Amino acid sequence: MEGKKRVYKFGGKTADGNSTMKNLLGGKGANLAEMGLIGIPVPAGFTITTEVCTEYNLYGKDAVVQTIKEQVEEAVKATELTMGAKFNPTDGSFPLLLSVRSGARASMPGMMNTVLNLGMNDETVKIIAEKSGNAKFAYDSYRRFIHMYGDVVMGVEAEEGHHNPFEVILDELKAAKGYKIDTELTVEDLKTLVEGYKAVIREHAGVDFPTNPWDQLWGSVCAVFDSWNTERAILYRRMENIPSEWGTAVNVQAMVYGNMGDSSATGVCFSRDAATGEDQFNGEYLINAQGEDVVSGVRTPLEITTIGSKRWAERNGTSEGDRVKNFPSLEEVMPSLYQELNVTQQKLEDHYKDMQDMEFTIQEGKLWMLQTRNGKRTGAAMVKMAVDMLEQGLIDEKTAILRQEPNKLDELLHPVFDQDALVSAKEISKGLPASPGAATGQVVFSADAAEKWAADGKKVILVRRETSPEDLKGMYAAEGILTERGGMTSHAAVVARGMGKCCISSAAGLVVSKTSMTVGGVVYKEGDFISLNGTTGIVYEGKVDTMTATLDGDFAKLMELAEKNTRMYVRTNADTPDDAKAAREFGAKGIGLCRTEHMFFEGDRIWAIREMILAEDLAGRKNALAKLLPIQREDFYGILEAMDGFGVTIRLLDPPLHEFTPNDAASQVEMAERLGVDVELVKAKVESLHEFNPMLGHRGCRLGNTYPEITEMQARAIIEAACDLKAKGFNPKPEIMVPLIGTMQEFKMQEDIIREVAAAVFAEKGLEVDYLVGTMIEIPRACLTADKIAEHAEFFSFGTNDLTQMGFGYSRDDAGKFLPIYIEKGILKHDPFQVLDQEGIGQLVEMACEKGKAARPSLKIGICGEHGGEPSSVEFCHRVGMEYVSCSPFRVPIARLAAAQAAIRE
Ligand code: PEP
Ligand code: MG
Repeated sequence: MEGKKRVYKFGGKTADGNSTMKNLLGGKGANLAEMGLIGIPVPAGFTITTEVCTEYNLYGKDAVVQTIKEQVEEAVKATELTMGAKFNPTDGSFPLLLSVRSGARASMPGMMNTVLNLGMNDETVKIIAEKSGNAKFAYDSYRRFIHMYGDVVMGVEAEEGHHNPFEVILDELKAAKGYKIDTELTVEDLKTLVEGYKAVIREHAGVDFPTNPWDQLWGSVCAVFDSWNTERAILYRRMENIPSEWGTAVNVQAMVYGNMGDSSATGVCFSRDAATGEDQFNGEYLINAQGEDVVSGVRTPLEITTIGSKRWAERNGTSEGDRVKNFPSLEEVMPSLYQELNVTQQKLEDHYKDMQDMEFTIQEGKLWMLQTRNGKRTGAAMVKMAVDMLEQGLIDEKTAILRQEPNKLDELLHPVFDQDALVSAKEISKGLPASPGAATGQVVFSADAAEKWAADGKKVILVRRETSPEDLKGMYAAEGILTERGGMTSHAAVVARGMGKCCISSAAGLVVSKTSMTVGGVVYKEGDFISLNGTTGIVYEGKVDTMTATLDGDFAKLMELAEKNTRMYVRTNADTPDDAKAAREFGAKGIGLCRTEHMFFEGDRIWAIREMILAEDLAGRKNALAKLLPIQREDFYGILEAMDGFGVTIRLLDPPLHEFTPNDAASQVEMAERLGVDVELVKAKVESLHEFNPMLGHRGCRLGNTYPEITEMQARAIIEAACDLKAKGFNPKPEIMVPLIGTMQEFKMQEDIIREVAAAVFAEKGLEVDYLVGTMIEIPRACLTADKIAEHAEFFSFGTNDLTQMGFGYSRDDAGKFLPIYIEKGILKHDPFQVLDQEGIGQLVEMACEKGKAARPSLKIGICGEHGGEPSSVEFCHRVGMEYVSCSPFRVPIARLAAAQAAIRE
């Protein structure tokens, strides 16, 4: 191990490294160096490189300590000089205390070790107690340090079935003194604890707690390197695909204190408003406090700026006099330090060209910046900041787009909970976040009740074991939907997303009956209030106020930028003219999937389809279908009109027929009466339609190939609607799609019927329209034989819901029972019905694209499974060369952004 540089110093407004050296210094180390380089006052310290971690794992502790000893000693000296304090002082000067932290290339939050207040011993604690005038603080820090060191470095922890020995001592002392909280401990108590903790270490580790700061330092550095290979760190790396060769750096930095009297303070601040995006510096501080005090809520922090303080007073009804006296801003209390902080925050934002979230400490009149990072923000703030920064010339268009987290746009498109109201809300269950947004209302247990209550002006949440197409009316009427069963692509989830309505499926511990729901031992009856957060999947008891977000000019501007920078365009999955119009306003360019069966449930339409199902023979079926023809034609007319000029993919009937027949006795009697048949006949039919595995049964093109008259009717309705529109000067572009193709012959048979019908309609109408005939690709066999299918099909649309179901062999409707556990255990990283499994299912998609294009270069390819609105899946679609993605209307903006990001990143 030759004498290369292994330790990089920072502080004193300079640094050996910089932010481009993340591989060597880790993320934290590189950023500390960068802050030092641009002249920001950071507590001095040094970074031991990630390479040393690798050497540590190869050559062991002793060899590595020997190699870096000299460089570390020199760096400690430099730190002492900059901080005006001494490590291990023997002359009574102020002790330099250090923090030792891990810092890998990629952030691994909480996975590795940290030691704080290093350098404390029986001598230094006395000096600190005396010089700070705060003995309680000094001895409290000391006993915490011994606990932390004992735990992290010396491995003293609770034995199986026992409590942590340090906590046992603390609890015993508190019990003996009758204290409730730690802050009641006196200096004498703390001194007793210090001795007690040392004894614990002696007993458990078999050696004494090291009082020499150098021993403490080496122990801590090695403990951080060791923590790279703990079980949890290894598991985390595996989950996040972080190579184990990367290693972690170790950051050793001087501790600074904001609790050393009234000229000290500590706080957290943001260069812009993280909630609204407003370009206004803001934050909170506390005089004579530790960082923890600001975040823990023990003391109420005050506003940093006077503007913020005045706004706070206004919200709280505090008079100006009271505010200035009791709640002054940092700007008012420490004007020159505030100025320095203000200049610093601006400098950091200008440097990183993004909103900064910063921590600072003022120690006896001197400002130290402890941390800066790009700040987290709400969806609204994310949009506003990007547009503002673009206009301010801080970033360019592409950066503005890349700055967006597409899923966060959800917050702008759906209602959200009022954060204040949420604080006191009681969580009662958690399920799959099936459709985003927030909803609050009274529970009802049937679609009829939902409609009735909503008609009376009440807000309701429809709670069902699972939903079926029959619940559609109730889902429309409800504010939100909650189901006991189902997955991310089950009926409830897909339909709710299409409606832009909040939905949680597969809620843990929920049991739904016809008249009540039970969860956590509590029974909720019709009319009780609950609230749903469809973005997180959390169910709350009672009412929680919601707020609707508004779309403003910044949103439109961002969408314009996305449009300019994209290759793929976005279509929508919509079944009604209204949904089509809404999606067009969000920027959808066409329809990628119109599920015709969804149209059968409105009004009285269901009776015509039920009549067809009950028909004994072809003539009977044709008779019933003739009643459906004008209804379907009217629907298609509306949708093609709403999407005039854009492609509209209409899928032929897909679900198994039993979905249209009633299961309960009362509805079966009603059906028999309405259709004038014996109820036994209805029962027999329902029974005959029963399938063990309906998802793999008589559905999709298997219906059209066994009952060609259904395809004939639907093709006729589509082509007639298109001809009627064309006659009126519109430009309809129908694309007729055959579902669930597994073999070329299945497709060909349907195509022949469609083309024959189209030719007949053209002849009858005396005009022609352009139309395409293509197929869903949603069965693995279709991917494997895509070249053969593409010889006939003019377009492919990937049905990744079924493709995932059949590729994994996971039932779409039952996966909710095990997928959450799989994800928790790390067997799967994501729900594959939500995020496309690029590694497995993605191969099928890619293969089908390649084979399809090879057979027909003009083949149009898109996706209409639920993945079409999920950002990482959209990026995949871009990569495999799809022309468009299609998703539910409210996800269109998200997909547009993701598509632009994919094009920019390419
Ligand atoms: C699919 O399978 O991906 C698809 C879009 O069809 P459906 O969800 O209606 O089965
Ligand atoms: Mg499908």
